[in-house]
Amino acid sequence: MSSTISNYPWQAPLWHDFQQAVTLNRLPHALLLHGLAGTGKGVFAKAMAQALLCEQPLEAMACQQCRSCHLLKIDHHPDAYYLQPTEVGKGIKIDAVRDALAWLALSPQQNRAKVLIIAPLEQLNNAAANALLKNLEEPTANTTLILIAEQPALVLATLRSRCQLWLMPLPTPAESQVWLATQGVTKIEEAWLTQQGPLQLLARHQAGTLDQQQLIEQQLDAFLTQKLALLKFSKSLQSLTTSDALNGLQVAWQRHITLALQSHQQALAQQYCEQLNAIMHLKALALAGANLNWPLQWDALLCQLKP
Ligand SMILES: [Zn+2]
Repeated sequence: MSSTISNYPWQAPLWHDFQQAVTLNRLPHALLLHGLAGTGKGVFAKAMAQALLCEQPLEAMACQQCRSCHLLKIDHHPDAYYLQPTEVGKGIKIDAVRDALAWLALSPQQNRAKVLIIAPLEQLNNAAANALLKNLEEPTANTTLILIAEQPALVLATLRSRCQLWLMPLPTPAESQVWLATQGVTKIEEAWLTQQGPLQLLARHQAGTLDQQQLIEQQLDAFLTQKLALLKFSKSLQSLTTSDALNGLQVAWQRHITLALQSHQQALAQQYCEQLNAIMHLKALALAGANLNWPLQWDALLCQLKP
């Protein structure tokens, strides 16, 4: 296994699939790597690129020694291209996709192969997705496209259907716990581990925003028992990053669904599930880089969640 991948034990089965596909010469032209945030899809994609471009790979593993491996490590490989939004939440525009495809059509410089990674795929607007679609219909020889998405359902269906879907699994809560402990994160609620990948939890721990999760859960409880006013809760959510606030609400709401089910309140659980959809809908919009009036969105969402 690649040394990068061996740092993330839950990726081992998928890495094995990759090695098999390369060995049997069955790697698709385009693969859509999807899974929850924090499962390490980006690291995995880069390890795949390194293995594909390495000058002396052994069983689809990069040697880590050759010029090609070195260039990839410093993000300077002429035959690898990483396309992502230039600004957070601004989306990936059609011109950027056209530039990437023009690059893809040129002959490789170092090796005989080229790898284009696009992430997150949800941020391609329709025009950009259609431009990419053309390439998938008429693939360039010796090129591999690795497309990364958190929610493949948000990707243009015609685009999705032309890719092979690879799911990056979420480790079990026990596996996540063990891995996070090796990174020095020990104070972690089990409910958090079922909704977020360990890399995201680690990043939030390092950024000091993991405590916010606890705060959101406490505030939500207070809001639901009418001890916290809607506007105050909304203000508090506005003070967080959109992604932290939405993740926090999602995890907290999931906990309420579990509690309702455990106490056999099926109707309540059903109602909570519908409300979770509203949270997920907002999350999808945020992921797609939609330009929203967040104070208004928070107020509207909390109105829906209100008991
Ligand atoms: Zn190498």
